[in-house]
Amino acid sequence: MSIAPIGILGGTFDPIHNGHLRLAQEGLEQCNLAAVRFIPCGTPPHRDAPHASAQQRLDMTRLALQGNPAFVLDEREIHRADPCYTVDTLTALRAELGAQQPLCLLMGGDAFLMLHTWHKWEKLFELAHIVVMQRAACPSSNGRPLGNAINQADATLRAEYQARLAPSPRLLHGAPAGAILVVNMPALEISATGIRARNARGRNIHYLLPDAVADYIQTHELYDAEH
Ligand code: ATP
Repeated sequence: MSIAPIGILGGTFDPIHNGHLRLAQEGLEQCNLAAVRFIPCGTPPHRDAPHASAQQRLDMTRLALQGNPAFVLDEREIHRADPCYTVDTLTALRAELGAQQPLCLLMGGDAFLMLHTWHKWEKLFELAHIVVMQRAACPSSNGRPLGNAINQADATLRAEYQARLAPSPRLLHGAPAGAILVVNMPALEISATGIRARNARGRNIHYLLPDAVADYIQTHELYDAEH
């Protein structure tokens, strides 16, 4: 059995930027994904309330994805008032897409190392593969998957990592869920926090994110004050 997996990228996207888009593009190409679904979160359970409204984050994500048929906007989380847990989103996607469809949850190495703090995190492996997008120039990596960071990570997370580590993306096509794959991508030192701060100081934010998103931020006077 070989079915092209569907990638899933969740985030606050406050705002979406080229780091997110590059992550998705690298995942798409390196893992031969059928598509990547971008899922802006509603009320993020792990962090402070977003600065832009749900509608504005949705608008910016839509603008960023336009023109790329492989990038799909998924609105299922953003309109919910209660905290959105990834495990619930994946359960809903699994019910919609069927038991055989491989799903790949894409995330940065920073997010992966905190996975053990997520709601019902061990259940995630029953629902999807996890693809850890490692920023290649990360000095801590020493050329090894996740470098020394995994040795300092939570012991249960480390055990799952060691048991589930896949040698190649091909494995993601032969099973619906359960593997962890580490994929290298070029490091782009871009963060939504950095973009908001730069904008608040009156600095130019172009080339860190798509022009359409930068223009939207300017038009709607988003992130004008530093928080
Ligand atoms: P903030 O600065 O507000 O924390 P962020 O830019 O880190 O936001 P998130 O929405 O928190 O964006 O991130 C969503 C996902 O994108 C996470 O898995 C994160 O690891 C990944 N990510 C964020 N920035 C980058 C980047 N520059 N390169 C690759 N992946 C990134």
